[in-house]
Amino acid sequence: MDDRVRLRVDARAELGEGPIWDPASGDLLWVDILGRRVHRFGPGSDTVGPDLVTDRDVGAVAPRRSGGLVLAVAGGFEVRGPGPAPTRNLIAVEGSLPGNRMNDGKCDPAGRFWAGTMAYDETPGAGSLYRLDPDLTVTTVFRDVTVSNGLGWSPDGRTMYYTDSGTGGVDRFRYDAGTGRIDTRERWVDIAESDGVPDGSTVDAEGGVWVALWGGGAVRRYAPDGSLDRIVTLPCRLVTSCAFGGDDLDELFITTAAYGLSGPELRRQPGAGGLFSVRPGVRGLAPVPFAG
Ligand code: CA
Repeated sequence: MDDRVRLRVDARAELGEGPIWDPASGDLLWVDILGRRVHRFGPGSDTVGPDLVTDRDVGAVAPRRSGGLVLAVAGGFEVRGPGPAPTRNLIAVEGSLPGNRMNDGKCDPAGRFWAGTMAYDETPGAGSLYRLDPDLTVTTVFRDVTVSNGLGWSPDGRTMYYTDSGTGGVDRFRYDAGTGRIDTRERWVDIAESDGVPDGSTVDAEGGVWVALWGGGAVRRYAPDGSLDRIVTLPCRLVTSCAFGGDDLDELFITTAAYGLSGPELRRQPGAGGLFSVRPGVRGLAPVPFAG
């Protein structure tokens, strides 16, 4: 393991995923998709929770500009108001496809929330990518996705990165912040199967893209030109996603899973399902809340 990597929360999540920094609360949020939980960690005060328990599998979460949260859940998007008894509004997506669920999601530079789906049994091409606009309308961006992951936008706001884990690499698109439209898809980085499956990702302030490797026990940084720049290794294999957080956005938080690991495997992979972090010497981009 990289000796600068620290286990911050031994959350033992089945499928820890989707970290995102919430500047308003000074907390790092992340989900346990199958454990149906939104975790919360305040690194400044080293406080854990309170967690939010969801009644559907929860693929991703993001803070709303107006307070509250937006969630990508099995069956749609859920918009929650702030407060102890928050309003809940479910916007159905793929409601007639119980074999599918929402997976990774993130806000674009204009505050639209993007999230994609996958089949529980990972049927190739069964998922799609969706965009939830601030007026709560849903657009199907494209179909034929196997495991939707790895959203991110370049610092200049002109490029969107996207990973369909089923394709073994990271793609990029030309992106228009004014309209939210994307075009000109191209393969940006290929990742060999022996190195792991590309999962969640985040973009740093210098345009580097950090890619979590499911089964690969690492997070890799790719420079803007697509060259492999750095590798951060972890003590467990199922590394799912990463995001910068902390008041200075200088700490890279990394989520992991314990999904399917046997007792002996868990003993060999201390902290599997936990939240890790490292200070890589580069900062993240300020996270954008959902504008709806
Ligand atoms: Ca993922």
